[in-house]
Amino acid sequence: MVNLLEYDLESLTAFCELLGEKRFRAVQLFRWIHQRGCANFEDMSDLAKSLRQKLKGVAEIKPMEVVSQHISYDGTIKWLFDVGGGNVIESVFIPEDDRGTLCLSTQAGCAMGCRFCSTGHQGFSRNLTTGEIIGQLWFAEHFLRKHLQRDERVISNAVMMGMGEPLQNYAVLVPALRMMLDDHAYGLSRRRVTVSTSGLVKKMDLLGLECPVALAVSLHAPNNALRDYLVPLNIKHPLEELMPACVSYLAHAPRDFITFEYCMLDAVNDTDALAHELVQLVKHYGHSVSWCKFNLIPFNPFPASGLHRSKPERILAFAQILSASGITTTIRKTRGDDIDAACGQLAGDVVDRTRVAVRIARQRSAEPAATALATATGAKI
Ligand code: SF4
Repeated sequence: MVNLLEYDLESLTAFCELLGEKRFRAVQLFRWIHQRGCANFEDMSDLAKSLRQKLKGVAEIKPMEVVSQHISYDGTIKWLFDVGGGNVIESVFIPEDDRGTLCLSTQAGCAMGCRFCSTGHQGFSRNLTTGEIIGQLWFAEHFLRKHLQRDERVISNAVMMGMGEPLQNYAVLVPALRMMLDDHAYGLSRRRVTVSTSGLVKKMDLLGLECPVALAVSLHAPNNALRDYLVPLNIKHPLEELMPACVSYLAHAPRDFITFEYCMLDAVNDTDALAHELVQLVKHYGHSVSWCKFNLIPFNPFPASGLHRSKPERILAFAQILSASGITTTIRKTRGDDIDAACGQLAGDVVDRTRVAVRIARQRSAEPAATALATATGAKI
């Protein structure tokens, strides 16, 4: 059986042609699946009965199983999905006044080993498939519409900032991105779909050519010595390669800036001197400082990291140095920290892979808090 969540419109068209159906039938089917969240061919009332019969014999729409759902006091929702083989992935919905953002995973685990990241400590299991990436959006969007009794779109932004290095799973990521952008599916604007990378420069170039969505880069340090320590990929692709790749991406980017993520680590990368060094780095690679923005992320501690969150006044002082030089700088609000959904906490509970079966069973037994959803998210979405 083919899982149709794996197919972007082009692939679905090819599949329908194999069944002797025209492209417009593929468009109808695609819209039923992604715009209406329908997983049952019998309910697709404007498809010919003969086609529905054919589909039932060869295809299915098979979402991932939800292992658990946690809702934060601030309306943030975290889902844990079972992707088989003892692997689980997480997605987080973050409601704000003017938008709803879904943070998606692209791999089970991650091989990049960034020191401040809980997922990095977990290690790498496997790449997700296109259907597993888009399946997170499919589930979250239609779950939220149903429970909030909304007909219109709830999720306006998608960010690939969950588990995994998205560009290491490039070949299946791009069809999933195309589905997010497709007007027959989720119709998200390119500016509202963001890929975050730790700095795979060749894939950044390719993404700019093939599917230029907004780009965020995990920077975390202004020099190679410190970045080698925090983001080991820097040893392979140092700042002399990464920064020009960021500038080149702007030729294709839907936004006229790159977002640099900077995790604030107490006494590691948060001094005034390093803030000034960052300003020099940005000036060195651009005519002005307006080609990038900084997002300062207060570190979310996890066991065995050996790192601590910078003090609020230190984060503020660091931000002020960047802002005074003209760089647009924001400090990320910590969301969902009571349910371990804050940035860098994804998969915080899946570090011990030897007891995965016990853990999944424990998560399953936790009562899903669906009834609390409307109250928890109420006015915020
Ligand atoms: S920060 Fe991103 S790239 Fe680095 S280890 Fe974590 S998930 Fe992987």
